[in-house]
Amino acid sequence: MSIAENLEKIKYTLPGDVALVAVSKTKSVSEIKEAYDAGHMVFGENKIQEMVQKWEEMPKDIQWHMIGHVQRNKVKYMAKFVSLVHGVDSIKLLQEIDKRAEQNNRVIDCLLQIHIAEESSKFGLNARELNELIHSSTFQKMKNIAIKGLMGMATFTDDKNQIRREFRFLKTLFDTTQKALPHISVLSMGMSGDYKIAIEEGSSMVRIGSSIFGARNVN
Ligand SMILES: *Cc1c(COP(=O)(O)O)cnc(C)c1O
Repeated sequence: MSIAENLEKIKYTLPGDVALVAVSKTKSVSEIKEAYDAGHMVFGENKIQEMVQKWEEMPKDIQWHMIGHVQRNKVKYMAKFVSLVHGVDSIKLLQEIDKRAEQNNRVIDCLLQIHIAEESSKFGLNARELNELIHSSTFQKMKNIAIKGLMGMATFTDDKNQIRREFRFLKTLFDTTQKALPHISVLSMGMSGDYKIAIEEGSSMVRIGSSIFGARNVN
């Protein structure tokens, strides 16, 4: 099936209130263009330099989401255009985003990444670190970032019960966090292999790559 057909099929199965980020990392500008021409406007990349290059070449009404781990020294390259940063996992990174957003006279929307997987290779805050961050005076003084919600990645496993438990934990944490930050509305969880479970567990934003663009050779 073509990219446009894959996209249509996935959109058809998503509940109306679940947003779709088409994960285009490693994919070419012409492949992204195919999705764009089919009417899709929201794309996710996991490397800042790759995202900047694509932003330069593609129509400017595309919304670019940074879904990968963010290196602080590269925030400046995306600060003028990035639409949502999913992988914020430290106050220091948030400070850098705040600073670069201010230099660009804008507010950058961010999600706080939570570590829910068993794998130590995945990034993110634990519940205590999240709590400390949102209650810190440093955080409360920032004017050029807006926390829109939480993001998490489940363990890469065939054990669907485990995946479900991890997503459920994140949804519970989201609900608790909403008491301190009442305006948050985005819960970014679910990828090609697990987005159906994620939606059942309360996801409001799924990040889907290979089911739209086909398998990647490299990550
Ligand atoms: C690559 C990636 C995805 C998409 O993965 P697929 O399995 O191709 O859907 C989603 N989220 C993050 C953070 C990723 O790095």
